[in-house]
Amino acid sequence: MCVMHKMFRLLLGVLLCAAFFAERGSAQAASASGRELVLHVKPEGFGGASEPDIKAVLRSAGGEIWKHCPNTRFASQGFEIYHSATHPITHYALSKEGCIVIGLAVEGRLWARFAFQFAHEFAHALMDHSNDPGQHWHKLEHANQWLEESLCETASLFSLRAMAKTWQTQPPYPNWKGYAPALADYAAQRMNEPQHRLPAGQTFAAWFAAEEPGLRRQWAQREKNTLIAQQLLPLFEAEPAGWEALTALKLGTRDVNKTLAKHLAEWHANAPAAQRAFITKFAAIFGVNLPPLPRANP
Ligand SMILES: [Zn+2]
Repeated sequence: MCVMHKMFRLLLGVLLCAAFFAERGSAQAASASGRELVLHVKPEGFGGASEPDIKAVLRSAGGEIWKHCPNTRFASQGFEIYHSATHPITHYALSKEGCIVIGLAVEGRLWARFAFQFAHEFAHALMDHSNDPGQHWHKLEHANQWLEESLCETASLFSLRAMAKTWQTQPPYPNWKGYAPALADYAAQRMNEPQHRLPAGQTFAAWFAAEEPGLRRQWAQREKNTLIAQQLLPLFEAEPAGWEALTALKLGTRDVNKTLAKHLAEWHANAPAAQRAFITKFAAIFGVNLPPLPRANP
């Protein structure tokens, strides 16, 4: 081996080491800053879907929303994902290790279903566990819980449609590129189900006026949550930075019977100023007019 060759190899080695430590350093920095989505998956019960594959799908699904929330942090030790035998769920309490705990009810290598469920739960995590988690109101039974569920359904449709585009050019693994159309199809099928669409000839305003009292009494009406999500999806797709506004949705008064107008006005007031125009447009979908806030005194 000539001297030049030796020097070249030495230099290459130094550069590779530098690149390795730089990458490790930036990953550690991302983790320490709360920006990295740290996923701990317990693979038991997922019907043979492997831990690395599940992580790749979940990181992709959550990442489609997370990339629009640059000022948000999770102060927890990441996400603990386990198989739930009954239904998907995000727990209010953290694990004893300090992780956000999410159960997913999927068996087998059904990547669209994993993505659909995790995006829903990721939206719950933004509302319940982001930034200063002690500030969020953790109450399952309240009159506007249907709104949270509709937002989570919106997150599922949004993520699947965004993943379908991303996977065409940047799939988690090269041989997963072919799954991209299946992700879009999963969202399209859900959106086209007759019970998820407005009845012919009815406006959303008329439908919502008739349905809101029932939704306030019983929030878990999935077909209606999905119908509402379809009204919200175009706004989030046009202005995806609005996802970050979810972090302020549960900072308001702890009143189980408050009106939707009050809930939205409190959200508007508690959100960062940059999110308020989005929330005003969001409220208008439900016929709620949010006047601009008075300027704070200097
Ligand atoms: Zn939910």
